[in-house]
Amino acid sequence: MTLVDTLRTGAGSSTGEPAPERQRTPLGDPAADLRDEIALAGGMPELPDKIWFHKTAAAVIDADRCVGCGGCIAACPSRSIGVAEDGKPTLVKMCTGCSACWDYCPLAGLKTEALHAHAPGAGSATANGASAPAAPDGTAVPIELGRITSAWSVAGRANAAGVQDGGAVTALLSHLLATGFLDGAIVTRRVDAFHGEPFLATSPDEVRAAAGSVYHQSHPLQVLNEPLGKGVERIAFVGTPCQISVLRALQRFPWKYRRSSAGAVVLAIGLFCTRSFDPDALEKAVGAAGVATSEVARVDVRDGELVVRSTSTELLRRPVKEFHAASLKGCDECADFTGLGADLTVGNLASEPGRSTVLVRTEAGRDAWAAATRALDVRPLEDLTPVVRTAARDRTRAVRSLARPFDPEGPLWTSYTEHLDLYEESERSVQAPAEFRSHHFEVTC
Ligand code: SF4
Ligand code: SF4
Repeated sequence: MTLVDTLRTGAGSSTGEPAPERQRTPLGDPAADLRDEIALAGGMPELPDKIWFHKTAAAVIDADRCVGCGGCIAACPSRSIGVAEDGKPTLVKMCTGCSACWDYCPLAGLKTEALHAHAPGAGSATANGASAPAAPDGTAVPIELGRITSAWSVAGRANAAGVQDGGAVTALLSHLLATGFLDGAIVTRRVDAFHGEPFLATSPDEVRAAAGSVYHQSHPLQVLNEPLGKGVERIAFVGTPCQISVLRALQRFPWKYRRSSAGAVVLAIGLFCTRSFDPDALEKAVGAAGVATSEVARVDVRDGELVVRSTSTELLRRPVKEFHAASLKGCDECADFTGLGADLTVGNLASEPGRSTVLVRTEAGRDAWAAATRALDVRPLEDLTPVVRTAARDRTRAVRSLARPFDPEGPLWTSYTEHLDLYEESERSVQAPAEFRSHHFEVTC
């Protein structure tokens, strides 16, 4: 009997199979605690898939799968989740067991491929393998790229210092803030070459000061929990595809108990992403490669190479795969290279050095693009072959790595008990939760 069977009651059955008799002991769940015992004793009307934070932590963080998006922090209606000293989500006050951290985590309950396939307006979207819309050059866009209405190679007309490639995001956002199209933008600024911190920029100068990439997933969605400030009503969010997916889930499935600024996001800018890094591990790996990390001013990834620079010179250039051990393991399960849920996606693939690629996807993306093109030097981009290749590689890796089926046509969510069973045999199976993170109760008074 699987744990799903062990925990399943009639009310919790999602398959229509007859519910087996409820068992007292939730055998096989490393995160089981007193709450399960009480529920399973039959005296509590709790559903078997009511999830407390310690279970999300056990299945994602303690299983070394967390990708640092901050979705659980943003989804929690009681604001019970913060960031621990180890840089990972942790309980900062009592968990109410509302299950939101599970439901909105892209490595836990939320099946992002189904979210995009069933997105409003996805109709002819290619994410679900349906008919492909026309590409800018009139050819069909392969399924990995999603909806695209136009594609461009871009450079900012007056680029800020430190921008990456064409500086498209910095130029676009500063122009949209200067012209009043936006009141703010959630972006990530460098703390040092390896670490970043998210914040709400409300002026072009703040956007320009945050120019350049930092390959650190610093839970930017958590900023949605902070008050926006007077007069800030229309904001942009810039993030990796996993962050954009959670943002879309928060927008599509709001909850009256959750105070969130997700509804104020009128422009979601996704960044091409094949994987991100644990910043401390990356710093150590760069140091081990012979670089004095105190001299590092920036780290970039381009054309499969990790390039490390000081303020005046290049310090290291190596295939990025040599730094695989410092990357986030959860990224292996991510099939979204191009930000399928974004209004605009930006990256450097398919554009020459010094320029950025911009994919315009939605009506909101078209409006922002039309409002900002004066600040940009733009050229139509016709050959998206490198983007297609990388997106296809990414998806193949994800399908291989996921312990659950990759299923765009299936349900939007996976339950905790399904996850337990699906991941049981994998090296990313659910682990006993760290006590300091989740207040794992084993005794009671
Ligand atoms: S992957 Fe995102 S939502 Fe899931 S636990 Fe990590 S930070 Fe939270
Ligand atoms: S590879 Fe996917 S999961 Fe990892 S940081 Fe990028 S978008 Fe997020």
